[in-house]
Amino acid sequence: MRLGIFSDVHANLEALEAVVCAYQQAQIDRYICLGDTVGYGANPNECCQIIRDLAGLVVLGNHDAACSGRLSTEWFNAAARVAVERHRRMLDTTHLSWLAQLPYRIELDDMLLCHGSPYQQEEFPYVLDEADVEAIVRHGAARQALIFVGHTHRGTAFIFRQQPALRIWEDPRTILQISPDNRYVLNVGSVGQPRDGDWRAAYGIFDTEARTFELRRVAYDVDAASEKIVRLGFPLTLSERLFVGL
Ligand code: ZN
Repeated sequence: MRLGIFSDVHANLEALEAVVCAYQQAQIDRYICLGDTVGYGANPNECCQIIRDLAGLVVLGNHDAACSGRLSTEWFNAAARVAVERHRRMLDTTHLSWLAQLPYRIELDDMLLCHGSPYQQEEFPYVLDEADVEAIVRHGAARQALIFVGHTHRGTAFIFRQQPALRIWEDPRTILQISPDNRYVLNVGSVGQPRDGDWRAAYGIFDTEARTFELRRVAYDVDAASEKIVRLGFPLTLSERLFVGL
C-alpha cells in the first residue's frame, strides 16, 4: 500500500491543491494528515474541507488545538496568535467541531502518527535533534518502529536502534530504504509553509510493501497564496516567508 503522508498545510490552499494534484500521479491508496491544517494562511475552511474529504486519518496539530480552544496561544509568537484568533472567527462551526475532536496520536500497525514528539504530546514538543529522539526512547513514548511527525516544517529522518546510535538521513531528496533492524522518526515537512529554505510544498510517500519513504516537492502559486494573506490584513511576515521557505 502506498500512503500519502503530509503535514502543516496551514490554510495554504494553493499549496494543498498542488500537492493533491501531484499525489494523483503517485498511485496513493490512503492519505494521512499529521496536523496543523489551519493557522497562518488565508483559506482555513477550504483546506479543512479538502482534508476531511481526502484523508482517512488526521491527527491534531498545535494550531488546530489553539483554534478549537484546546490549547492556549500564550506560547505562540505574535503573528501566529493573530492568525489563530482570526481563523477561529473565520472557520465554519462544522470545521471547528472537527478540529476539536482530532486525536493527539494514531497507532497503525508498526506506525505511530503524531504532530510533534509523542513524548509529552499534549505540549507539542519539536523533534529537532538527537536529544529529542532520545527523550522518546528513554520515556517509552512510542513502541512503534516508525514514528511519523511534522511540526518543524523541515523534512528529515532520524534513524536509530533501541539504544540510540543515532544517524540522520543526510539527503532528503533520495529515497530512504526502511530497514527492519532500525527504528525511525520520519518528518514529512510542510505543505503550506516550508522552513528548510525551499519554498515549494513538501509531501511524503511511504510504500508499506517496498518499505521506502520519500519526500517530494512541488511548486505552487505562491504569489496568489501570499497576496491573499496580505489582503486579509494578517502580519506581513506570514506572506513574505512563503517566498523564501523560512
Ligand atoms: Zn505547523
